[in-house]
Amino acid sequence: MHKPILALVAALLCSPALSNTMIDHVNGIQVGADGKIEHFDRLLIGNDGKVISVMAPGMIADVEFDQRIDGGGRTLLPGLIDAHGHVVDLGVAALNLNLVGTSSVDDLKQRLRAYAAANPDRRWIIGFGWNQELWADKRFPTAAELDSVVTDRPVVLERVDGHAIVVNSAAMRAAGVTAATVAPPGGRIEKGMFVDNARGLIEGAVPATTDVERDRQLAKAQDILLGFGVTGIDAMSVSLADWQAFRRAGDSGRLNVRLISYMTATDAADAKQLPTPWLYGDRLRLVGVKVFADGALGSRGAWLKQPYTDKPDTRGLPRHSDAEYQALIEAAAARGFQVATHAIGDAANAQVIAGYERLSKEYGTARRWRIEHFQIADPVDIPRLAPAGIIASMQPTHQTSDRLMAEKRLGPNRLAGAYAWQTVLKSGARLAFGTDFPVESPNPFPGLSAAISRQDVHGEPAGGWIPSERVTFEQALSAYTRGSAYAGFAEDRIGSLEPGKWADFILIDRDPTQVDAQSLARTEVLETWVAGKKVWERAAAATAAERGR
Ligand SMILES: [Zn+2]
Repeated sequence: MHKPILALVAALLCSPALSNTMIDHVNGIQVGADGKIEHFDRLLIGNDGKVISVMAPGMIADVEFDQRIDGGGRTLLPGLIDAHGHVVDLGVAALNLNLVGTSSVDDLKQRLRAYAAANPDRRWIIGFGWNQELWADKRFPTAAELDSVVTDRPVVLERVDGHAIVVNSAAMRAAGVTAATVAPPGGRIEKGMFVDNARGLIEGAVPATTDVERDRQLAKAQDILLGFGVTGIDAMSVSLADWQAFRRAGDSGRLNVRLISYMTATDAADAKQLPTPWLYGDRLRLVGVKVFADGALGSRGAWLKQPYTDKPDTRGLPRHSDAEYQALIEAAAARGFQVATHAIGDAANAQVIAGYERLSKEYGTARRWRIEHFQIADPVDIPRLAPAGIIASMQPTHQTSDRLMAEKRLGPNRLAGAYAWQTVLKSGARLAFGTDFPVESPNPFPGLSAAISRQDVHGEPAGGWIPSERVTFEQALSAYTRGSAYAGFAEDRIGSLEPGKWADFILIDRDPTQVDAQSLARTEVLETWVAGKKVWERAAAATAAERGR
């Protein structure tokens, strides 16, 4: 052992305490406490990673600093905070084999071959997203075709709609499926295809995710998020295993995205897990419980007050009776949890609002009850949000992805309370924006663009969909920073660059106040800083990003 060398290395690694840093020559933009855009051209960061001051252009300030960084005139925004995302799922989706857009069985086989070669240590190969409807022969792939590429380990490839999987022979062997196996009721087996209820025959054999794999998924997710300028997440539907991965990352200093966590109701109940204080320098906190009131609009699982226009024999289904739902949220609130409830349909939203109204009688409005999505509301219910202190946590890109489907499901006369961001704001209720990644991309810029235009990234439809529900850029940015911080009880630490708050910020390639909506959607993040330290840089990540695309 060469002790002197080790000591030298240790000294270099534990570099002296950070000194005050002045980042100047930036085009700083944020939303002030008054809701108006605030401009600044300098940012002074303390050695604790917190903001000392931001200085407006022309402001003469006599401040001392030890280090100066030239921002090169680039635009600087506070780090964006996604009010609703699924962190581990993002990593899972990014690390699994992506088959979205495959053009033929041969294309699928080629992607499978490349993935298998690049991931020799993956025990099972899991893929997602193929759709034979896009192929010339519109024929399902077979086990024999997968066997021609991978025989040394099981392969399970899910169709884009999630209803069917195709597997190779190794997967069937591992699951104990033979030619004699009969599909269960509601299922079908055909040349390696396992449809609906037959999927369980295979999926039961897929090994549980190990800690190492989950750590890798979390690391991958953080990398993706930082690359999109997302420095904080209201992390939804966190399982106990996810939470433990968050803790391991925090323990070993690998937590660069702040995770404000909402545990699944089942895991929160089973573990007798209670809310935690902020951990790891405000990078992690368990604050709430995530509950479901209904399903989704696409699969007609959203619970509506009136029947579906395109299927008049159903109005969807509630997950809980009123009494059951009330008991669930009462129990969570009594244990000190904030409650976040997924509600899509107008009947579900009305049930949740009524539940929160009752809770507010007992707890007041300071518990910040959240409705996740708040997609389809009966306009008469929207004014009930603010008095009960209910936050609408909404996802602008759901509107652009769903509008045609929503028109079919709801007909023309029920859209007044659909994705009604401006009506929510006008009612006096708090609004928080996010994406629901990985359902949508975690990139916040298409969301900010949709928020101000009610148009998708291609500018469709012309004039915007129900344009009266557009919000201004400052309202959109506020919902994506101050609003999402407030929704997670974090506005005293993040969401704006103010003295005493964390210096979480991003440098981007254009000024969002000077470009049109479509250009805003294409904004690229150049650097991401958390607690006054650069944690991501486009130049350094370019190669990795290319590979991940
Ligand atoms: Zn979600």
